[in-house]
Amino acid sequence: MADGLGAPLAAPLFERLALIGLGLIGASIARVAKRKRLVGHIVAADSSEEVRKRAAELGLADSIAKSAAAAVDGADLVILCVPVGAIGAVAEEIAPHLRKGAIVSDVGSVKSAVAAAFAKYLPAGVHALPAHPVAGTEQSGPEAGFATLFCNRWCILTPPDGADPKAVARLSEFWTAAGANVEIMSAAHHDLVLAITSHVPHLIAYNIVGTAADLETVTRSEVIKFSAGGFRDFTRIAASDPTMWRDVFLNNKEAVLEMLGRFSEDLTALQRMIRNGDAQGLFDLFTRTRAIRRGIIAEGQETAAPDFGRRTGEEQDRS
Ligand code: NAP
Repeated sequence: MADGLGAPLAAPLFERLALIGLGLIGASIARVAKRKRLVGHIVAADSSEEVRKRAAELGLADSIAKSAAAAVDGADLVILCVPVGAIGAVAEEIAPHLRKGAIVSDVGSVKSAVAAAFAKYLPAGVHALPAHPVAGTEQSGPEAGFATLFCNRWCILTPPDGADPKAVARLSEFWTAAGANVEIMSAAHHDLVLAITSHVPHLIAYNIVGTAADLETVTRSEVIKFSAGGFRDFTRIAASDPTMWRDVFLNNKEAVLEMLGRFSEDLTALQRMIRNGDAQGLFDLFTRTRAIRRGIIAEGQETAAPDFGRRTGEEQDRS
């Protein structure tokens, strides 16, 4: 296939996949699992009746369950695709209904909090394997999902100590077949890395867009009219789902505060360079940062297109 996903598998990797939460990520997993025949049957659940209805219309799953508990019945792979703050409650709800030997995973953007919730609620006899596909857009909901979302993106697995290597290998195989590159690290390290690469940048975007919105000397229409000068790219990030991002900051507090401290120190240094007219200092920093952008493009994690190469899910899947 021309979309980079490759041919469907000859035999499914799992018999029955239960997806809890059918927003951007859940719907994207459903689409790629179907397209690549990664599993024998997809059953999905979502707390929103509207989402369940829309998912049925879009044909995202083979069956739609009324509750998470009903969905996991008999599933050998369960993936929680709900906001991080909802993972504990869902884990508690599904715990008595899980099949022995099932792999229970998630896609949450924070991993230590998920590991703690899994350890608290999931029974012995299932494989609790938190994961985070580092892929997304600022869109939410079942329509936003597309099969190629994970193509050439990283999926980080954070298996707890003592996790069964065979279960880790099976989950890695699932994500690899979905187009992702798999990396394994500890939950704590994941949270630190993502704090600087994702969480703090989102916070900065939320802050700068909020500051612009509150300015008294520059009108809101001027902010929108002249937004091409860098501000526009921040507004894309600042349009990300409020529930998801509230939960990220509440659940990765320490790592975010640590990175924010470093960021504030560097910002103060920049402030000083501007005040002191330190032309060389500014030029050197901007040269180093430009090289990082070029490195990201060279690794295929971004395109050089000025629109950041991002199109809607439907457009991506059609091309
Ligand atoms: P989303 O589009 O908002 O979808 C989440 C879905 O889960 C919604 O339909 C929501 O229903 C449903 N839900 C909430 N609580 C639930 C519960 N207790 N039981 C069942 N369903 C429930 O969010 P998303 O972008 O797919 O994000 C899902 C997860 O992926 C989050 O943990 C996020 O951290 C992670 N993630 C997101 C991205 C990204 O770029 N968006 C990237 C990587 C990972 P309601 O709308 O009714 O609440």
